[in-house]
Amino acid sequence: MRSVDVATITKVVARLCEEANFYLEQSVHSAFQRAYEEEISPLGRDVLTQILANAAVAAEKRLPICQDTGIVLVLVELGQEVHVSGGSLYAAINQGVRDAYQKCYLRKSVVNDPIERTNTKDNTPAVIHCRIVDGDKMRISLMPKSAGSENVSTVKVLNPADGWEGIKKFVLETIDQAGPNPCPPLIVGIGMGGTMEKAALLAKEALFRPVGQKNPTETIAHLEDELLDAINKLGIGPMGRGGRITALAVHIEVFPTHMSSLLVAVNLLCCAARYKTAEI
Ligand code: SF4
Repeated sequence: MRSVDVATITKVVARLCEEANFYLEQSVHSAFQRAYEEEISPLGRDVLTQILANAAVAAEKRLPICQDTGIVLVLVELGQEVHVSGGSLYAAINQGVRDAYQKCYLRKSVVNDPIERTNTKDNTPAVIHCRIVDGDKMRISLMPKSAGSENVSTVKVLNPADGWEGIKKFVLETIDQAGPNPCPPLIVGIGMGGTMEKAALLAKEALFRPVGQKNPTETIAHLEDELLDAINKLGIGPMGRGGRITALAVHIEVFPTHMSSLLVAVNLLCCAARYKTAEI
């Protein structure tokens, strides 16, 4: 059994919060540069130039990429040979979020209750999902998730007879209705199968895949390409200003499901695509 102290976890989470808010993920940065080459709309190209300039200033001055510094989403893959020592895993993660958001003056966006809505003043609690895996390592993936892109994400129960065409229609309708609100160009995470909550979690996990990395199953990778092409024909363009580039990537994750079910979730990630991962 390998022991990992909670103080280490807190420090790693605080570092990931800082890095995610200040530095655009490299694969996203490269995707924006490719998008600039492919975009034909002058307004769209102008927006992409501004997105890249904004990212450069944020990195240089250690300023947030966007004013909405999000609610913090944390995915933990916890090796079953790891013993978390000195306290609670969830408390350690929340302390890391608290430390980073206070030290770096990041906007605190979390309210205590969906109805009462009092700001918790330290951006906690984080939304934490923990999965037990083989091994003696702990992998922490973290994303400050904006309201703009989360608020237009959705889950739907389709009829299995709807098939791929039904899924495609649902995804395109979701993105079309969202229009400029999630601040495109987007990364589109799609979860298919499982149960309602499993599809939603798959869609979220799909967002953490480096942009440009396809699903390892060839048929699913082909569907990702087909859907990206269809989304970019909607003409929404960067920040809704029109153009070719509405999405940088489509990432699909799938899971076995009940023979009478077809669950589909669409989770969108805006142009402030912030996520970081560390292994302890
Ligand atoms: S959707 Fe993204 S880019 Fe738009 S305001 Fe929110 S965090 Fe910023």
